Amino acid sequence: MGLVAMSKVLALFLFIGITTGAAVFAAASPSSLENLKQLFSDRYAGVTPDRWGERVPGVRTRLDTDEKVIALTFDACGSAKGNGVDSRLMAFLIREQIPATLFINGRWIDANPELFRQLAANPLFEIANHGMRHKPASITGRSIYGIAGTQNAAEVVDEIELNARKIEAISGVRPKLYRSGTAYYDEIAVRISQELGHEVAGYSLLGDAGATWSAAQVKAALLKAVPGDIALLHMNHPEAGTGAGVIAAIPELQRRGFRFVRMSDYQFK
Ligand SMILES: [Zn+2]
Repeated sequence: MGLVAMSKVLALFLFIGITTGAAVFAAASPSSLENLKQLFSDRYAGVTPDRWGERVPGVRTRLDTDEKVIALTFDACGSAKGNGVDSRLMAFLIREQIPATLFINGRWIDANPELFRQLAANPLFEIANHGMRHKPASITGRSIYGIAGTQNAAEVVDEIELNARKIEAISGVRPKLYRSGTAYYDEIAVRISQELGHEVAGYSLLGDAGATWSAAQVKAALLKAVPGDIALLHMNHPEAGTGAGVIAAIPELQRRGFRFVRMSDYQFK
């Protein structure tokens, strides 16, 4: 290799070095989604997760307290079958001033923009991130219940970050909690979520089994609550038993001395 060729190679290395450094630096900027995706793709290249489920390490399933508090969490999942809203349930929560955490999917926001604005503006509710496309959170494309997960680390970033930015653009507040579509994760996706500033929100109390239970089943499940429980329910299925079950259970839980809180009001276990 001649001197001229060598100097060209050196110049190329210098150029790569500078742009790589710039990419890592720019990843800290909220505007550089592509750089963020590249950063996480590089960080977890060649890593094979060995966990897959709802309770992998890092998923927060309880509030860290002995107080008689319950965090009701309501998912709004989106899609043709999941774009609804249980208006009676939401009106009840507002009338009775019952705080709750709402995990909102990007597709649901698109279907209900004005309602989303109203809910986000109500301090009773914490708005949390239920993903852009409601995908299980995998870096290898694993699926669950027949739903394909994200294919790689970059898609996990898209799933979390696109919806976080969408929520922040409308509400002015960036969400701090993420629950994937189906609530399934591998442990690397959990780490990516944490590194994007989102704690991963699991649950300790199955409230409506994917909005398939009757009101009586939902009520019975909620009445088994213990201090610090995080209850997983849905706000997007008015035809389900969820709303009537929640409305029946809340006064009874209050009589037993429980109160209701948003997830971020407490530390997690
Ligand atoms: Zn969902």
